[in-house]
Amino acid sequence: MQVEFENTAIAFESKSTPELQRAYWLFKMLSAKWMVNTGKFLTKLGFALHLPIQGIIKATLFKQFVGGESIEDCEPTIQQLWKYHIGTILDYSVEGKNDEKSFDASLHEILRTFDKASGDERIPFCVFKVTGLARQELLEKLSQATPLTQEESEEWENVKKRVETICLKAFSTRQPVFIDAEETWIQPAIDQLAWEMMLKHNHRQIIIYNTIQLYRHDRLEYLKNLHYQAKQHGIKIGLKLVRGAYLEKERSRAVSLNYPDPIQPDKSATDRDFDAALKYCIQNIEDIAFCAGSHNEASAQFLVHLMQSKNIPSNHPHVWFAQLLGMSDHISFNLAKAGYNVAKYVPYGPVKEVVPYLIRRAEENTSVKGQTGRELSLITQELKRRSRN
Ligand SMILES: Cc1cc2nc3c(=O)[nH]c(=O)nc-3n(C[C@H](O)[C@H](O)[C@H](O)COP(=O)(O)OP(=O)(O)OC[C@H]3O[C@@H](n4cnc5c(N)ncnc54)[C@H](O)[C@@H]3O)c2cc1C
Repeated sequence: MQVEFENTAIAFESKSTPELQRAYWLFKMLSAKWMVNTGKFLTKLGFALHLPIQGIIKATLFKQFVGGESIEDCEPTIQQLWKYHIGTILDYSVEGKNDEKSFDASLHEILRTFDKASGDERIPFCVFKVTGLARQELLEKLSQATPLTQEESEEWENVKKRVETICLKAFSTRQPVFIDAEETWIQPAIDQLAWEMMLKHNHRQIIIYNTIQLYRHDRLEYLKNLHYQAKQHGIKIGLKLVRGAYLEKERSRAVSLNYPDPIQPDKSATDRDFDAALKYCIQNIEDIAFCAGSHNEASAQFLVHLMQSKNIPSNHPHVWFAQLLGMSDHISFNLAKAGYNVAKYVPYGPVKEVVPYLIRRAEENTSVKGQTGRELSLITQELKRRSRN
């Protein structure tokens, strides 16, 4: 039986009509490219001139896509989502810092997410990005096997210590953790860290989850090989499957540095490999726990179909669906209502620091054809339904 994603009464049950109207206007604005570009420019200018624009951001984008400025601020969102059996993944979304002091501060904050999550069924996973703990240039050097200087080797030891501290915390609190995937030129270093952490902690329980981006043409093979290696070492693997977020950046770097494009030739190839990865994980569900991080309805439906065809219970602990806060509620809420394991990434952080995350959300939504069109039509449908009742 299919899950009915069109059911807007369930999808927006948690939202009051004024909240829905606000979301409607927000997505409407996001659908206009010129507005997003102007907004981006004014935001940068506003911060540079120290204008009081934080209030505007907080009342608009922040309210839709962010849990708050601190873990404590996120509590109402956590409660609200859990009322509908949707878990929260607290995502400390401070980006672009590049010094040891900031990396240590990130580590400290990520450890606090474990303190919040530990023993709290409403928070099924924690998450971190290695670039929140390490310099990109260092990760790039390691990924290309370029020899490190003495100073860089010491820096790398500090990065490993930070990652080990987080993973040990995950293990000791029995709180599974996702390691986000990033750009291809730094991913080998991230993959290596994730693998070492899996070897350490994934024996009895699946604690460490690495992320696989299926917009890369080499990742389905990587997934199968990872599974093979894990079997050789007697461990299980945790995976977050995503399509991938850095398409344009990847393509333009490959062109400018003249190396083969690491990305699939087209969207349908990405879709094909994403669904093949879902199938592979379902076929090996004893060894692999995974989370489908996606807003694609067809893939969510495909995963539901795979589970049903193999008589896998909807709440099997090895299968999760995840979306971002403020996006694709029709998928999250309808899946949760049908008994599937669902969680939302709930980003948080000081307004100014979360702006790059918000800009990416805005840019991602700047297409009436794509995500925004879908969000707008579902919200309109629900507002009409409510006005009839
Ligand atoms: C919970 C969650 C966690 C996430 N974690 C990460 C992460 O750790 N790392 C990361 O990189 N991303 C992450 N993402 C973002 C994700 O990779 C996608 O960018 C985003 O979810 C859009 O893809 P989709 O599956 O929702 O669906 P769709 O909207 O169907 O697919 C859009 C995606 O398809 C791919 N695509 C589009 N056009 C083409 C083309 N011409 N050729 C080839 N491929 C194309 C791109 O990956 C694009 O993002 C996460 C998303 C979620 C929901």
